[in-house]
Amino acid sequence: MVSRFFRLPLLLLTLLGMSLSVTAFAAPGLEVSAVRLGQHETKTRFVMELNAAPTFDVFLLADPYRIVIDLPELTWRAGDTSLHRKGVVRNFRWGLFKKGTSRVVLDVTGPVKILQTAVLPPSSGMPWRFFMDIQETDNTAFRNTVDAQRRGGEATQVALVAPPPPSLVRKYTVVIDAGHGGIDPGAIGQSGVYEKKITLAVARKIRDILAKDKKYNVLMTRDDDTFLSLRERVTFGRSAKADLFISVHADSISRPSFRGAAVYTLSENASDDEAAELAKEENKSDLIAGVDLSAQDDTVQGILIDLAQRETKNFSVKFAEMLTPEIARSGMTVRGKSHRFAGFRVLKAPDVPSVLVELGYLSNREDERILKSADGQQKLAEAIARAVDKYFKTVDP
Ligand code: ZN
Repeated sequence: MVSRFFRLPLLLLTLLGMSLSVTAFAAPGLEVSAVRLGQHETKTRFVMELNAAPTFDVFLLADPYRIVIDLPELTWRAGDTSLHRKGVVRNFRWGLFKKGTSRVVLDVTGPVKILQTAVLPPSSGMPWRFFMDIQETDNTAFRNTVDAQRRGGEATQVALVAPPPPSLVRKYTVVIDAGHGGIDPGAIGQSGVYEKKITLAVARKIRDILAKDKKYNVLMTRDDDTFLSLRERVTFGRSAKADLFISVHADSISRPSFRGAAVYTLSENASDDEAAELAKEENKSDLIAGVDLSAQDDTVQGILIDLAQRETKNFSVKFAEMLTPEIARSGMTVRGKSHRFAGFRVLKAPDVPSVLVELGYLSNREDERILKSADGQQKLAEAIARAVDKYFKTVDP
């Protein structure tokens, strides 16, 4: 791990941009070649070496404390950075946040303030560098900054697709949601495979099967390696007026002997500890990507959800009950006899029947083999498509 710290005289920080938003430079084919953290008296310095001057946008997030740096889409050549840890920075990660935007998220130990950000031009053999100096502060100052940012109108919404055009024949809209993506890899398998890859591969196969049937209008929340917040996924399903929303995942657990698929529906009270734990893991997706959760007004939502959700819930359960035996028929082990439930945020559309399917455990060698193979993925996709057919034959939402 590289964690050298270049002690530069402060004077050298002849800042090309001190404001939080610098847009003076376009950066085609931007690349990060190295990153490092250093502790310098009371401040922690974060440095990225780049091949060109980046545009950037820096903001703070609370609960937990994070610093987010949004940059143009870039190529990362700085290697694995997960082990960095210095000063107030506990950890940091990077990835594609959405098309055109790469994001670096720094987890910090407590409330912090950003003393300065700067971009330095190449000099004495060093390439372009992005600097950020961070210092501890008190919670009030931190919250004030976060509030000020919000008033400034931080916008990180992804455009949503329009609902399908009306047609004479009743078409059912099915939304397939490939879990995770972009900056959020999801679970990591025995062999190092990312959950986000498996979920996308299976989601595409489900779409391809269902799309052959004219009565389905099939949409995917994502069809590439892009991050979507849990709320964006829910909103996508609702704007599309989906008749069914299927979120596809593949779990991981510390016990490698654990295996099998499971189907989940939403409930405030989890069916068992394992389901509760899993929901907690899946709900972390937004934290991993640096989504501002505190800005979401869940109180009003809560009331609306309660009214509409009772009926929707019955449909979700009906589909879950049809899906579980179909998965068993595909050859994948199913954990337990029936479906389970917990507080998955991605299932919270009050008016769209929604289920989350964990296809198996990436931490189990045999499950992982199935999940990675085209044949295994196809069989699981067919099982899900069969359940969709059965569901719409018995109910007309
Ligand atoms: Zn997942």
